[in-house]
Amino acid sequence: MDPKPQPQLPPGVHVLVHDWLSANAVVLWDDEHTASVVDTGHVTRARATCDGVAGALAGRRLRRIVNTHLHSDHCGGNARLQREHGAGAQCAIVVPAGELPGAGAWEQPESAVAQAGQQAEPFRADAGYAAGDTLWMGGLPWQAHAAPGHDDHALMLFQPDAGVLISGDALWEHGFGVLFPEIDGGDGFAAQRRTLLRIEQLAPRLVIPGHGPVFAQPGAALERAHTRLDVFEADPPRHAAHALRVLLKFHVMEQAHPPTRGALARWFASTAMVGRALRRFWPGQSESEVFEQTLDALARVGALLPRGERVADPDLH
Ligand SMILES: [Zn+2]
Repeated sequence: MDPKPQPQLPPGVHVLVHDWLSANAVVLWDDEHTASVVDTGHVTRARATCDGVAGALAGRRLRRIVNTHLHSDHCGGNARLQREHGAGAQCAIVVPAGELPGAGAWEQPESAVAQAGQQAEPFRADAGYAAGDTLWMGGLPWQAHAAPGHDDHALMLFQPDAGVLISGDALWEHGFGVLFPEIDGGDGFAAQRRTLLRIEQLAPRLVIPGHGPVFAQPGAALERAHTRLDVFEADPPRHAAHALRVLLKFHVMEQAHPPTRGALARWFASTAMVGRALRRFWPGQSESEVFEQTLDALARVGALLPRGERVADPDLH
């Protein structure tokens, strides 16, 4: 059997594939002298992201940082990259226009990062972009498309000539990001359905996802995503339980050393988004009960490893 062919990206497009804590970064050579980057990973990996981006620039100047959405795993390197490449007009941070007010003000308790109990370095956005806009990157026009579902303000970037989609967390090869608006009683399932249909209409040849390797011919990935969405839509508490598992696992991944069970339980009880999920989906249960259930479910599948009083991530600690 022939080996699986490697997907061909347009020249000047370089994907730095990271892990589940840190989203992929896409470096695009705009011309001989300048380049853009889409998404910048998690703050705890910012040093490595800056080094990776610097290598991929091949001597070009980074003139623009674009974010698909402002989750901590997609914009954690913004501040450091901008410090290293020059603020404002030198190296502008461009975010979804709907996020522009308050973008990057993670020190504010109402910010998305604070609400999810995550870590990020604050930054100041310089401009916004919206669905219908065209961004010239890598010497090619990229169309911005709305990608609600995982995040109300998320955008995808599509290059029609090459048939390449930068999908963020709207579509991975095996799944998609948690539909966070659904946790707060918003429109998550229907929005995600619209986003998947939009991807089908665009009919990309290649997808550069927010996490995982680049993949070709996304028909099978879209089918899997629809099936997953059907399951969640039929059973919203199942989706909410999945969201809590993702948030807890992510919090452990953010720690340099395995945290104690007690510290994790305190984080769980004090995180605003977790509290809202508990009140909405498990009003009759205590925080500690739902915490134990969430941790047990992650331990059963080997996603977290309780070791005595500490809880480790099997890939990181
Ligand atoms: Zn995300």
